[in-house]
Amino acid sequence: MTTASSETRGALADVADKIDAGVRLSFEDGVRLYRSHDIHAIGRMANRVRERLHGRIAYYNVNRHINYTNYCILRCKFCSFYRPYPKSPDERARTATPQVRTADGGFVVPLMDAAGAAAERDAYEFSIDEIVAQARQAYEGGATEVHIVGGLHPTLPFSYYTNMCAAIRAACPRMHIKAFTAIEIIHFTRISRPRRSIREVLVGLRDAGLASLPGGGAEIFDDRVHDEAFTAKVGERGWFDVHRTAHEMGLFTNATMLYGHVERPEERIAHLVKLREHQDESLRSRAAHFNCCIPLSFIPEGSALAHLPGPTGLDDLKTLAISRLMLDNVPHIKAFWIMQSAKLAQLALNWGCDDFDGTVVQYDITKREGRGRHQELTVDRLKRLIAEAGCIPVERDTLYRRVLRNGSDWTIA
Ligand code: SF4
Repeated sequence: MTTASSETRGALADVADKIDAGVRLSFEDGVRLYRSHDIHAIGRMANRVRERLHGRIAYYNVNRHINYTNYCILRCKFCSFYRPYPKSPDERARTATPQVRTADGGFVVPLMDAAGAAAERDAYEFSIDEIVAQARQAYEGGATEVHIVGGLHPTLPFSYYTNMCAAIRAACPRMHIKAFTAIEIIHFTRISRPRRSIREVLVGLRDAGLASLPGGGAEIFDDRVHDEAFTAKVGERGWFDVHRTAHEMGLFTNATMLYGHVERPEERIAHLVKLREHQDESLRSRAAHFNCCIPLSFIPEGSALAHLPGPTGLDDLKTLAISRLMLDNVPHIKAFWIMQSAKLAQLALNWGCDDFDGTVVQYDITKREGRGRHQELTVDRLKRLIAEAGCIPVERDTLYRRVLRNGSDWTIA
């Protein structure tokens, strides 16, 4: 049998030996991987780990993303999503996107304008009815998960978020609600009256129907990068406080790393090591842990960092592979096709990744390759992309349990 080390004798041979022996990579190993130009050796090592964990399986899910508002009180430099909240009601009415009431009394945000072109909006916020209408539409189509995140809205009360979860839970009883990044959770602690702790916010949301947290808002855990790219945002301490509390409560979460802006390779590796240390502690002593890490490729267009080139395809592949190699205690590494592009995510299935995310349908936060907010892959296309990569497509739910599907009906295996 060929081993990783026999394929990669040379500068990375000792790293490959560690991978073969199941020995944890050090910070220095991670930095050396980034400095190496041997992308194929790195990919082979990552793929070996991926196959050890998951064989040839690649996961996808049938889900729906909902971004409930793009109003935000912050101005992160890498963000092209946020819109400032207009002070006057007149200005809000002028800039908001019209929403359409349907015959059954629900709401839809039009995907197409009268001429059939993709409808784009600028600033917006959804009512709870509108959010429920979108969730119900997905649920009736067979979605197992709704993924909800948004900007830090200046005026919506905490009850908006608990009512949102409760209304989705009532309308879509079996749908898993994965919602609110750590940054939003901290925001809720500040806007709730009386002020709530992180735990109290999470308990309130969980009691209303929240089932897990996404991993967004981590960016890069480094003070220099924080000061340069997202200075007003909650930093690593707040992000870990939220995920630690969630894990203690038995809520599973994901982790992310936004790379390719002002950070250096050493800072990416330090970020991964911090995630790994947190996961060690959660696995050792808490009721839940990170299910998945999603390395997010920075998309400069429309942001205050638009002058930066953003990551190349090789940087994307290398980062996904190195994430797999460094995060030896995180079960899944996702090639999120929205951020990586479907074509590169397909390639990444042989570079350490075992998850493709899902159908998505609508996504406002980034728009790669000139796409609008309608960003959807059908299940047939997801399966084809996975099978073409030589992998076995397996539908999962949010917690990576296998889904047995019969049209829009489904059960957990
Ligand atoms: S990244 Fe999030 S918190 Fe920062 S400006 Fe954008 S929406 Fe607001």
